Amino acid sequence: MGEIEREERPVPVVDAARCNGCGLCVEACPTGALAMRGETAAVARPDACQYHGYCERICPTQAITRPFMIIFQPRSIE
Ligand code: SF4
Repeated sequence: MGEIEREERPVPVVDAARCNGCGLCVEACPTGALAMRGETAAVARPDACQYHGYCERICPTQAITRPFMIIFQPRSIE
């Protein structure tokens, strides 16, 4: 199976209602994928996201989460 196309890959999701604007996730992201947009964190550079999860772990309000995708591959019958 080939690599999943970039546009099909998920990126972290920020729940604006939970975000307190502390900026910890932006500081923790090693690839600079996150940025503050006003008082809320946002995935400003989705192509830079490597899904490390530092943002999700450091967030004090559980405002940022990483969705995962389950892909079923047909099994070959031998
Ligand atoms: S760490 Fe959480 S609360 Fe702080 S800016 Fe990021 S998403 Fe918002």
